[in-house]
Amino acid sequence: MLDHQKPSIGRIVHYVSYGTPGGEYPKACRAAIVTQVLPEDPEHKDFVVGLCVMNPTGFFLNPEIEYGEGEETDEDNDLCDHMDYPGGSWHWPARV
Ligand SMILES: [Zn+2]
Repeated sequence: MLDHQKPSIGRIVHYVSYGTPGGEYPKACRAAIVTQVLPEDPEHKDFVVGLCVMNPTGFFLNPEIEYGEGEETDEDNDLCDHMDYPGGSWHWPARV
């Protein structure tokens, strides 16, 4: 299953940017390159990675980002498969 593929350095994944609380900016999927993969940890069901996130207006680096599972939602959004993902998490890009 693609979702449980082990991430490796240099792979491209999605990072979910936080939207603004007032909803002026919704959450968005951003392209990100895996910069490190933390050792497997029983507390996390999926891998924790470091990412270089490529926002349209600049780069953002974070050494420790948790995997975020997509959840069904009725809300309209532009995230992968119109699922809801936690802000500040990563996932594999959906096939389109
Ligand atoms: Zn995505």
